[in-house]
Amino acid sequence: MTTRFVVVLGSLLSGLGKGIVTSSLLKIFDLYDYKVLPVKFDGYLNYDCGTMNPYRHGEVFVLDDKSEVDMDFGTYERFLNRELTGKSSITGGKLFSEIIKREREGAYLGEDVQVIPHLTNLITDGLKKLGKDEGLDFLIIEVGGTAGDLENGYFLEAMRELSQKEKVIFIDVTLIPELKAVGEQKTKPTQIALRQLMQIGIKPDFLVCRGDNRLESTTKKKLALYANLPEDNIIDDSDSDCVYSLPESFMSQNMDRLLLKALGVSKRKMNGPKLKTWKTSVRALTSTKAKGVKIAIVGKYVKLKDAYVSVKEALQHSAAAVGLNPSIMWLEAEDIDSHVDELREADGIIVPGGFGKRGIEGMIKAIKFARENGKPYLGLCLGMQLMAVEFARNVCGLKDANSTEFDDATKNNVVDILPSQRKLNSKGGTMRLGTCEIQIIGRDTIVFASYKSPRIHERHRHRYEINPELRPVLEKAGLRVSAVSGDEQLVECIEWPGGFGIGSQFHPEFTSRPEKPAPLFTSFTRACAKNAG
Ligand code: GLN
Repeated sequence: MTTRFVVVLGSLLSGLGKGIVTSSLLKIFDLYDYKVLPVKFDGYLNYDCGTMNPYRHGEVFVLDDKSEVDMDFGTYERFLNRELTGKSSITGGKLFSEIIKREREGAYLGEDVQVIPHLTNLITDGLKKLGKDEGLDFLIIEVGGTAGDLENGYFLEAMRELSQKEKVIFIDVTLIPELKAVGEQKTKPTQIALRQLMQIGIKPDFLVCRGDNRLESTTKKKLALYANLPEDNIIDDSDSDCVYSLPESFMSQNMDRLLLKALGVSKRKMNGPKLKTWKTSVRALTSTKAKGVKIAIVGKYVKLKDAYVSVKEALQHSAAAVGLNPSIMWLEAEDIDSHVDELREADGIIVPGGFGKRGIEGMIKAIKFARENGKPYLGLCLGMQLMAVEFARNVCGLKDANSTEFDDATKNNVVDILPSQRKLNSKGGTMRLGTCEIQIIGRDTIVFASYKSPRIHERHRHRYEINPELRPVLEKAGLRVSAVSGDEQLVECIEWPGGFGIGSQFHPEFTSRPEKPAPLFTSFTRACAKNAG
């Protein structure tokens, strides 16, 4: 079958959860055993997400192949339970640098290079090639931003052009606001947004409607009329407690059948065992019987929850798998002194990844609190580096111990820049990135008990490491190095001599899925439950 295309876009405002809609469609096609991949288009001119601020843009997600991509990729992988590649990430930056490269090579000699047709052809040809190379039945394209934005205008034009030659279905994700005082669902913003979309030549085949409450039938009727669609193509996507419920909600509205029909594909049976596994994980995530555990996450980007979305999801997957329900206390590292009560209340503490000096001393205080009060601790990347700094300062007595990222004059640089990073001047895509092999040392460690294998693979994103010269000082005082890189050069995990305390240089949260929770998170939540009594 030639590749068919589904375009998910927004015509009203961003932040409505297009990523979750796209992920749910990916899951549905996968449950039917179709070959499907996502493509995400982001209009910014950065080449990739790696140089962006997570405080503004949300988490930078890392793929196996070292790509630093939008956090939506985390959602795609969590739903699909499959590893994706950087081929699925198209940014304005990548498109423009490609077109200029081609122009310099002489690919357009004698022509004036224009957005239409050169840039739009580059996009449509690329999508068709991806479909062909990967043998895809379906490609689901999520268009970042909102129709009408300058940034994605040329991309939407490319989608319109694609729809002239290929089978393309458009899904518009919109918001149906409800004014409390009137108690009525308002369709006017969507009506206006639809007009704008039709002006650029795109008529949606489905409307997915976000809102606080379920779509009322009168609202549906009205929307169907204005969108020129059968009522069945107006899909409810009102707020729910669990994002992973959306594929089943779409299926209960018959959207899978309608979509396949619109794409000109005949009915096929769903893969029963796959559906069962998915449903079992979703049930565990929504179980009301799960016992509560309180986890404190101490970071510097806590005001924007999206900055730590994979950590939050990994906690939820692992807790659900062992019958627990985590409630997260987000603690601002800079204000840690005013959060001592919450630290005391917590059944476990996490310090996640991060960059830059702000909040570092607060994170170190939280780690000390965990170590001295027997609270389970999980340190992720920066959280592991600071676990080493705290141990060096307060157990080894090296009072000025630090990472050279925060104090380049320290004599006790227990964390220092990776030798391979020293000579680099360029910042984009140059960290130690992506999946690397890791060797676990010893069988009596938390990391071995978690993975039950001497060799594992996990994703990375860092420039600093535990200083190999000071490693013996830490080990002599009892800190256990329980995993190293495949070439044995780098420390990958450290553990406290007593209690549950582990730090990983890698990011286990990036590969956690409802159907495959991250083993370190599972061990951590179990330890928290024991701590909770
Ligand atoms: N800033 C630290 C480094 O570059 C930690 C990075 C992270 O937590 N992802 O090594």
